[in-house]
Amino acid sequence: MIKVGVNGYGTIGKRVADAINQQPDMKLIGVVKTRPDYKAKAAQIKGYPIYADNKENLRKFEERGMNVEGTIENLLDEVDIIVDATPGGVGVKYKNLYEKRKVKAIFQGGEKHNVAQTSFVAQCNYEEAYGKDYIRCVSCNTTGLCRILNVLDKAYGITEAYAVLVRRSADPFDVKKGPIDAIIPDPIQLPSHHALDVNTVLPKISIFTAAFKVPATHMHVHSLILQLKNKADEDSVIELLSNTSRMILVDGQDGFTSTAEIIEYCRDLGRDRNDLYENAIWADSIKVKNHELYLFQAIHQEAIVVPENIDAIRAAMEITGKSESIKLTNDMLGIK
Ligand code: NAD
Repeated sequence: MIKVGVNGYGTIGKRVADAINQQPDMKLIGVVKTRPDYKAKAAQIKGYPIYADNKENLRKFEERGMNVEGTIENLLDEVDIIVDATPGGVGVKYKNLYEKRKVKAIFQGGEKHNVAQTSFVAQCNYEEAYGKDYIRCVSCNTTGLCRILNVLDKAYGITEAYAVLVRRSADPFDVKKGPIDAIIPDPIQLPSHHALDVNTVLPKISIFTAAFKVPATHMHVHSLILQLKNKADEDSVIELLSNTSRMILVDGQDGFTSTAEIIEYCRDLGRDRNDLYENAIWADSIKVKNHELYLFQAIHQEAIVVPENIDAIRAAMEITGKSESIKLTNDMLGIK
């Protein structure tokens, strides 16, 4: 059993903690919280041992009558590996501590590429991450882009990729972020950072990206235009994507007219927290014109990196090869 801790129990951390708890080869030793808030209460009810980020905050838990096992230092003494899901830019500040305690770490996409030895998407570069001490799971948008570019590049060869990203502006719980009524080019100067980030995982893909933030909380949507080396047709692209792990095809004719219906579908399937771990590609958006392929995909920002974190743990700990890990993660999370 791999002994795992989670530092930062927010949108990503709490999902990764639940996913670790579902794996037959991993044991969740505890989660690190800064405050005795409702997330800490939920963790306690689930039976997850809680550790404070420092001694001062530990007292705050005690004052609220909550059980804490100790501080992050105590957790690090107990684990083989830690998943750092603290806010972007905070993870890097913990790296010294992980190094001192000789604990391997999985960082998230809010950290810079150089926080780790490898930026990671399981289907693209699992082998590169094998045995590494520090791995960075890239952001939700980058994960979604890398997954689809990787499979299409292998099948048809991509000479040039253009992606426009329509991004949700906040996660559903996050009352502090906007906009409420605006569309924000983010950034205005092109290209957006996503292209560079894709290249941290797939260095050979030539890609240009632009991004907008819109008043939504459920999912991002990507509009892709890909120039292909080899001839493709719509049916073969549909067949390829429907046979690829961590992709689902949705169709406007089935009522998938927006991201809202995709999330509703996940509710109907009984997915934990309505989570969609897969890229959702609109089958009826797939068009091929000469050597150009067009499509739309939707990415559930809160969920897509969860299976990647689980695979990154197995790669770092050298437990299984790529296909075995992906299959096990998929089976445990209910990904068909
Ligand atoms: P979040 O704000 O929802 O959760 C972060 C948690 O860390 C919070 O509970 C916060 O209280 C806690 N925290 C803050 N400072 C801490 C500290 N010093 N020590 C320990 N815990 C601390 O953030 P998130 O959305 O889960 O993002 C975490 C990481 O995942 C970021 O790098 C982000 O870029 C990345 N990511 C986020 C999303 C998303 O859509 N939310 C998707 C993919 C990747």
